[in-house]
Amino acid sequence: MSTPPSRLALDRRAEVQRLREEVAALHAELVRYQLVVWTAGNVSGRVPGTDLFVIKPSGVSYDALDADAMVVCDLDGNLVEGDHQPSSDTAAHAYVYRHLPEVGGVVHTHSTYATAWAARGEAVPCVLTMAADEFGGEIPVGPFALIGDDSIGRGIVDTLRASRSPAVLMQNHGPFTVGTDARAAVKAAVMVEDVARTVHLARLLGDPVPIAPEHVDALHDRYQHVYGQTGGVA
Ligand SMILES: [Zn+2]
Repeated sequence: MSTPPSRLALDRRAEVQRLREEVAALHAELVRYQLVVWTAGNVSGRVPGTDLFVIKPSGVSYDALDADAMVVCDLDGNLVEGDHQPSSDTAAHAYVYRHLPEVGGVVHTHSTYATAWAARGEAVPCVLTMAADEFGGEIPVGPFALIGDDSIGRGIVDTLRASRSPAVLMQNHGPFTVGTDARAAVKAAVMVEDVARTVHLARLLGDPVPIAPEHVDALHDRYQHVYGQTGGVA
């Protein structure tokens, strides 16, 4: 309470700059893991201790996405700072931050295999230990929703609240993932695509074997509590 206002503003500025750099760098991971084409796909990160988040600008190529190109929005999705318009998915990100206070990062892609499951409106069944670890069960499908109001955000939040998964496949659209920070949400986006691809291939070869629910619980619990503290790499 005794901190002078100017000092507080300075602290926030440093934190926003750090987030701008982190979120910009994480967009390169979407490219590296081949989760995006053209300018589709976006990462955002909540600025800790504030009602702000940093997100990708709309329509800027991945090669040009440096820290300065990122934009800062409030939790209603209004532009607070930046030279570009925020991503067209900003309202969905903002809705998630408003309703899930534990979420510090959100990612959206149209990655091929995950989106193929979304096109069929089919959840990815939990038939891999890594899926049990990461998602605690199937990767659920959210409702069909049009862009332009809170429909996408509401569909994401309602589906995630009913699941242990940090990922939802919005029907006919694609995956949205969340995490405690932007990096964790990007990791979930990478894992969703990997699991969706492997289970797709398994389906082509025959019937994947389900994992018993108690084993899913045990795997998820161990991974989240033993490995979760060190970044979740088993
Ligand atoms: Zn999309």
